[in-house]
Amino acid sequence: MNFLEERILKDGVVKSSNVLKVDSFLNHQMDIELIEEIGREFKRRFANKNVTKVMTIEASGIGIAAFVAKEFGVPLVFAKKSKSINIDGDVFVAEVESFTHRNKNQVVVSKKFLHEGEHVLIIDDFLANGCALQGLISIVESAGATVEGCGIVIEKGFQIGGRAIRNMGYQVESLAIVDAMDAESGTVIFREQ
Ligand code: 5GP
Repeated sequence: MNFLEERILKDGVVKSSNVLKVDSFLNHQMDIELIEEIGREFKRRFANKNVTKVMTIEASGIGIAAFVAKEFGVPLVFAKKSKSINIDGDVFVAEVESFTHRNKNQVVVSKKFLHEGEHVLIIDDFLANGCALQGLISIVESAGATVEGCGIVIEKGFQIGGRAIRNMGYQVESLAIVDAMDAESGTVIFREQ
């Protein structure tokens, strides 16, 4: 069992059959030592990649992706949720359905901060149905940049996102993959990796 799986068992809370709460250490209160370790682990897993930029989506991915960007020594750009229409064509846009809020958001990245020829590592806290990742991938590709891989802190392996994104040919590295969980008993079962 790795350091993250241990922490999930200690402090994670199974809210329902498909929602895991990790807000005491990952995405509300943040354990910076743990997140630093997560940053180092992603650097190790993508060590052979030529990463020129790290990208995530606001809000909960930002703190994690910041430590990954620090490890690679590259900037972090996060996609912003936007209500305004792209009149000037100065942003890349994707539509993302939120797993937790069940609404659709347009997310945007300014064309100033993502260019053709860049090599992007995408980072997020959770992978469920894969909408957030698909939105980020489409933004990177519409810029003419390359997705070098996707680093996920917690993948819920019983939801479709991981399989869908891997089937599209992308390298997805998840530090913990939850294969099953049960709200009543609080049990979390991890995939052997
Ligand atoms: P997806 O787009 O893959 O369906 O969902 C990923 C996004 O939804 C992540 O950015 C994450 O913020 C949120 N999310 C998905 N599942 C969970 C979960 O079980 N717990 C928490 N806290 N967030 C989740």
